Amino acid sequence: MAQLLPFPIDFSTALVLVAHPDDPEYGMSAAVARWTSEGRKVFYALASSGEAGIEGLAPTECGPVREGEQRASAAVVGVYDVEFWGFPDSSIFNTPELRGKVVETIERSHPDIVIATYGGPEWAPGAPNQRDHIEFATAVVEAYDSMDSPPRCLFVNGPTPTHAVEVGGFVDAAVNSLAAHDRYLSVLDPTTPVVEQARAQVAMMAQPREDFGGVVASCFELLRGTA
Ligand SMILES: [Zn+2]
Repeated sequence: MAQLLPFPIDFSTALVLVAHPDDPEYGMSAAVARWTSEGRKVFYALASSGEAGIEGLAPTECGPVREGEQRASAAVVGVYDVEFWGFPDSSIFNTPELRGKVVETIERSHPDIVIATYGGPEWAPGAPNQRDHIEFATAVVEAYDSMDSPPRCLFVNGPTPTHAVEVGGFVDAAVNSLAAHDRYLSVLDPTTPVVEQARAQVAMMAQPREDFGGVVASCFELLRGTA
């Protein structure tokens, strides 16, 4: 079995770019918790406020709820810079405006590394990716490619990883970070306590990896640049 490469350790800042609240918590937050505990700085930027994401809640009410939950969730893993760009949830498209926002944010925050939502067609056979994610990730890649001096590399959290980071000590942080999306998860599944939902989700993502020495790891795919 091909072994995953270790995720780089010689970086100080990472910018996480995603489409919606809770996107960083599905697959990245254990790694983020580790990085911030090591003194690295991580920023989150979200295209939308996830205002279409809670059934029964009007977008004008839902957006602020989800922004608050995302900020709380980020703080659990040591991220205090969280920004929302205001693109419409469920109608995110790879437009010049979105690509411009990606470039502007990268230039302003000047990260060593960029990590984005996965934009491939499916997470697994029969598990299609969302259109928002695909459009958003395509915009990020095109924006990165358009830059004269882009950050040194671009990763995504997709199903065909190339690199991994050991996160055995950060699973609880990832669970608590996802569980901070309390209102969102409690509507999504009213019968299962939020922390149990979060624990089950994180257990699926942060697993012992045979292709990474058998340790619990978060995995990323290098799309551009040099790790
Ligand atoms: Zn999403």
